[in-house]
Amino acid sequence: MARVYNFSAGPSMLPESVLKTAQSELLDYAGSGQSVMEMSHRSSVYDAIITETQAALRRVLDIPENYKVGFFQGGASTQFAMVPMNLMTTGEADYLVTGNFSKKAAEEAEKFGKVNIVASSKDKNFTYIPDVDAIEYSKNASYIHICENNTIFGTRFTKLPQVEGIPLVADMSSCILSRPTDVSKYGAIYFGVQKNVAPAGMAIAIIREDLLGHAAANVPTMLDYKTIIDNDSMYNTPPCWCIYMTGLVLNYIEKEIGGLAKMEELNNAKAKLLYDYLDESAFFQNPVEKEFRSIMNVTFTSPDADLDKLFCKEAEKEGFINLKGHRLVGGMRASIYNAMPREGVEQLVAFMKEFERKHG
Ligand SMILES: *Cc1c(COP(=O)(O)O)cnc(C)c1O
Repeated sequence: MARVYNFSAGPSMLPESVLKTAQSELLDYAGSGQSVMEMSHRSSVYDAIITETQAALRRVLDIPENYKVGFFQGGASTQFAMVPMNLMTTGEADYLVTGNFSKKAAEEAEKFGKVNIVASSKDKNFTYIPDVDAIEYSKNASYIHICENNTIFGTRFTKLPQVEGIPLVADMSSCILSRPTDVSKYGAIYFGVQKNVAPAGMAIAIIREDLLGHAAANVPTMLDYKTIIDNDSMYNTPPCWCIYMTGLVLNYIEKEIGGLAKMEELNNAKAKLLYDYLDESAFFQNPVEKEFRSIMNVTFTSPDADLDKLFCKEAEKEGFINLKGHRLVGGMRASIYNAMPREGVEQLVAFMKEFERKHG
């Protein structure tokens, strides 16, 4: 059986060694005689899994003591609502709109209070990130929200808004664990796990302690950060399998890769292979301002839409799948998350060169 190189924006590739471990433990986890899928979430064997997964996340991301971690259902999109429900204590918040997901987050927040769109890069179809130091933030904002890596448009923040007394809240769904993160710069971080961490079905939030416990009384129990966090993500049945897989991926980052600094090196090198070729190619183009290029999601176009289509079709035949760009952007997008091997990118570039030679 040949495995393909899957360039999907999410769900996306998982490290092969992780899949093999999951396979080897599938029927009988650690001598328990049962699969992680089957076991009681209140059992001591599962308790060890969730406890170690949370501890591993704290180690890998070097999360400071005064931050809490929770595992949540409903993906990143549910976080779009949970953030204002829990953190919009002044009745207003600042949002930077740099793509589709930050737009959705802002629209959702409007249901709960006043949303100030303090910056947007819509004027150039989200191909850049506004200068965060030139923005006039609202004095009364409860928080400033950003989407740190724009999955659809292939951009990323290279500098973070840092305003004294106003916490930064970041959607890091498509860049978490791709490089070291200074968690202390944020009030809260959240991410859906299906891009860089685990199979779909869960979001993780990391929240500074002092921001917890201020949700309004009518916030549903399950949507109050404090409910999940105070109960060690065990208020109800958690996404058990997803948490287990998160643990395996964290173990892979720690033991096989050697931590996030090393992960970043590998990711930068992979992205450079692709961007260097795009820059020298007269055929393929990347529309993003260089400074803001994402190292996770690389967008590109050929000279016309018919060639884009042909490219995706022929790529698929060669085992490079899910290269079609998002409908809002067109063209192609190669999502090269942590689990995409360097050879996958090397072979994609070789395929692109050959396509350019034939059709250029
Ligand atoms: C994928 C993605 C989302 C949506 O995640 P769901 O888990 O499907 O709700 C939100 N934000 C970003 C940055 C994403 O990449």
